[in-house]
Amino acid sequence: KKRIAVMTSGGDAPGMCAAVRAVVRAGIYLGCEVYGCYEGYSGLVKGGEYLKKMDWEDVRGWLSLGGTLIGTARCMEFKEKWGRLQAAKNMILRGVDALIVCGGDGSLTGADIFRDEWPSLVAELVKNGTFTEDQVEPYKHLTIVGLVGSIDNDMSSTDNTIGAYSSLERICEMVDYIDATAASHSRAFVVEVMGRHCGWLALMAGTACGADSIFIPERPPNSKSWKDELKEVCLRHRSKGRRKTTVIVAEGALDNELNPITSEQVKECLVEIGLDTRITTLGHVQRGGTAVAFDRLLATLQGVDAVKAVLESTPNTPSPMIGFVDNKVVRRPLIESVKLTKSVATAIEEKRFDDAMQLRDTTFKE
Ligand code: ADP
Repeated sequence: KKRIAVMTSGGDAPGMCAAVRAVVRAGIYLGCEVYGCYEGYSGLVKGGEYLKKMDWEDVRGWLSLGGTLIGTARCMEFKEKWGRLQAAKNMILRGVDALIVCGGDGSLTGADIFRDEWPSLVAELVKNGTFTEDQVEPYKHLTIVGLVGSIDNDMSSTDNTIGAYSSLERICEMVDYIDATAASHSRAFVVEVMGRHCGWLALMAGTACGADSIFIPERPPNSKSWKDELKEVCLRHRSKGRRKTTVIVAEGALDNELNPITSEQVKECLVEIGLDTRITTLGHVQRGGTAVAFDRLLATLQGVDAVKAVLESTPNTPSPMIGFVDNKVVRRPLIESVKLTKSVATAIEEKRFDDAMQLRDTTFKE
């Protein structure tokens, strides 16, 4: 029986539990044994009870849950070769030679490095006497499949990451709450949202909530006078009878010289035009709560495909990342997607904004 391990790694996202559930159940359905790897890569490095066989009923009720019930962690040991050697040993001890990782670009990079290194790790485990040649014979190749779990929707080659729509929904609910009090008191609110270096959450939330203005990393203001322009826009909206002012600031927002645009700076502008202004940093409520229907579906369809991809993989095929493009589940070479994602950050750093927008194809499709 093929033994597959499934883990969640990096930042938690709603829908990760649904993905684990789909992998466990599709795995069992297709005749495999599935092991839950607890606490991300730390579980592989620690081994033993951190690699737990999962049965059908172990994931009952997981479809809608937020966060991840098998835990996630940042694991420094896995970034070192000795940590990965330990991980390879623990996997072979369990008879596992396939790993489905649900995480962000960091987690998927780690997975790809692990697969490349696997043959040399196995050779070393024979050399140091941990296993005999015969014992490692069935484990000459490691299969890796990536699922993208991230609230930020910050991965190239896929339209959506698992968790992004749940987070967007949460942000919109919060902005609606804030809007009610803003309109009552005729106030201004600056709402800071997550997204790291990606402006998807801010852009989508700002559009869905009808914000007066939105600041994101990928499209910094054209000129130094962004503060004057912001004031002008907000005053114009007020002059047309709007009783509230809402400005959404992505945590990674940048000005035309690539310095951060902070909520404080935005607040100052609004105070200068006479608005009673508050800052709301939404923080971790954006990660929490149940997964919206879309994330449950995405995680389920992709989890099932991840198991199929494991069963269809050969030592010569590159590790796939399961994506979602034009409403279809697709497989893309994992390392290419990670590289594309990193090149967006580089393009922004180098002020090549049009390139950044184009590379972030899936985020800002027009
Ligand atoms: P995310 O997956 O959300 O981008 P991180 O970048 O924090 O989050 O990565 C999560 C974990 O993946 C890290 O704690 C580490 O264990 C592993 N990892 C990340 N990058 C690498 C790498 N270059 N080599 C090996 N492991 C890595």
